Amino acid sequence: MHNVLQLNADYQPLKIIRWQRAVELVLSGRVVMVAAWPNLHVRSPSLALPWPAVVALRRYSAQRGRVRFSSRSVQARDNFTCGYCGLRPLLPNGRPDRHQLTMDHVIPRAQAREGKVFLPWARRWVNVTCWENVATACRSCNARKADRTPAQARMPLRIFPRVPTQHDVLRMTLSRTADMPDLWLPWLPPGVVNPQESGVLPDDVSFQRA
Ligand SMILES: [Zn+2]
Repeated sequence: MHNVLQLNADYQPLKIIRWQRAVELVLSGRVVMVAAWPNLHVRSPSLALPWPAVVALRRYSAQRGRVRFSSRSVQARDNFTCGYCGLRPLLPNGRPDRHQLTMDHVIPRAQAREGKVFLPWARRWVNVTCWENVATACRSCNARKADRTPAQARMPLRIFPRVPTQHDVLRMTLSRTADMPDLWLPWLPPGVVNPQESGVLPDDVSFQRA
């Protein structure tokens, strides 16, 4: 518990770190404390430090978040939502029901040549299984789409299959966090706090045109 939200020097959220790491960074002077837990201190024989909730780097970091490709990561990128019909299946405890979701190859495997497919919207060839060619689909949409592209199946995709952006990475990390501290909220973009608002396909990108 008591993980810490780490902001970049421009106060954009970067990642979530353990409180021990945050204390190290505060003591080494690499971060400034932006928000602390009221009435809570990290104590050692020689110091009593306010317990950090949000810290910010003093020097801007150009690091990009990276996420290992996995079916769970793809689902998290897509907010555990079917990219075709928008279904977001939930378990009784309110968590996403991952077993109702599948990983759909947007340009299907059946249309691959030597393991590669051409993405009309990106105008290049990619491996059939990669961030840019997979989307989360519910079981019935996956079965209905079968070995067709979204255009062939007349099933427009609502999400944009992409390598996770920094914003996505943060949102995906937060999807593992059961409860988000109120102290973080002022520093989080709306799409991260309310995942349903993010990851929507921009209007100017249409798979129907492809
Ligand atoms: Zn669906």
